[in-house]
Amino acid sequence: LTKGLDALRALPCETLDGHHMPLWVNTGLLADVVRAQERGAEGVGLYRTEVPFMIKDRFPSEKEQLAIYREQLAAFHPLPVTMRTLDVGGDKGLSYFPIKEENPFLGWRGIRVTLDHPEIFLVQVRAMLKASEGLNNLRILLPMISGIQELEESLHLIHRAWGEVRDEGTDVPLPPIGVMIEIPAAVYQTRDLARQVDFLSVGSNDLTQYLLAVDRNNPRVADLYDFLHPAVLQALTKVVEDSHAEGKPVSICGEMAGDPSAAVLLMAMGFDSLSMNATNLPKVKWLLRQISLSKAKDLLGQAMRIDNPQVIHSTLQLALRNLG
Ligand code: PEP
Ligand code: MG
Repeated sequence: LTKGLDALRALPCETLDGHHMPLWVNTGLLADVVRAQERGAEGVGLYRTEVPFMIKDRFPSEKEQLAIYREQLAAFHPLPVTMRTLDVGGDKGLSYFPIKEENPFLGWRGIRVTLDHPEIFLVQVRAMLKASEGLNNLRILLPMISGIQELEESLHLIHRAWGEVRDEGTDVPLPPIGVMIEIPAAVYQTRDLARQVDFLSVGSNDLTQYLLAVDRNNPRVADLYDFLHPAVLQALTKVVEDSHAEGKPVSICGEMAGDPSAAVLLMAMGFDSLSMNATNLPKVKWLLRQISLSKAKDLLGQAMRIDNPQVIHSTLQLALRNLG
């Protein structure tokens, strides 16, 4: 198996008809870095910065954060590393910053928390910027954006942090900045959001949860949680079209991107990169190398005409099994 993985790592993620589909990884712990490199990722599409926060017993200082971020950036350099600003709340708690709510997934989480606590946000962004000095492979990603005003406030704070670190003598360019599309409201504002950022990234875990009103962690409704639901597929198609209409690249970093048959559809939709758990990367690469982009587009066309998620799954499975 290791030999097979080694051989696959060296091969490009390219379809039979020559379409290159960049595969990126999601990271959190430093251990993910090694696995990502072994599997030949082309970049980090999502570094979940809340992970290093969760294993501490207090907020890490700017200096501590700088060291943690520097390790990620240096390990992948010159490949891009997309660092998401702190996404706590919902199911992701910090012992030293408890949030008690009736409906945590509809409550105070992600960008809502950090815009209410700009001191947390500014320290984090300053640490990211300082960590990228001399490397310049940082990209900043904003979680849980539901409207233009949140984006503008975030951009304002990032510019402020950038001014501060430059005043202190850090020589860094302003990094590319992106928004996550993971709240249904953002889907309908993709063009307006895209105009103000450098890239977009779909969080299909939350987008599926919010579109279908199904808690992503509740086993009782797990059968209803389906990223191949027709509503999810239509939302994704719209996000790709609208991002490209504004000339902006769009990626996807939810679990869906690491599901080989879903990845075929995402490639056909036109996503510019797929970001996944390193464990899934070889499977996805293997399958995309067995198919042509035109065949994938046929399959997407077929899937988009089916109204039943179960039938979408079985149709895909059948078509892909026939590939061998
Ligand atoms: C998502 O929502 O799809 C996502 C990638 O972010 P997280 O799973 O960390 O909420
Ligand atoms: Mg999310």
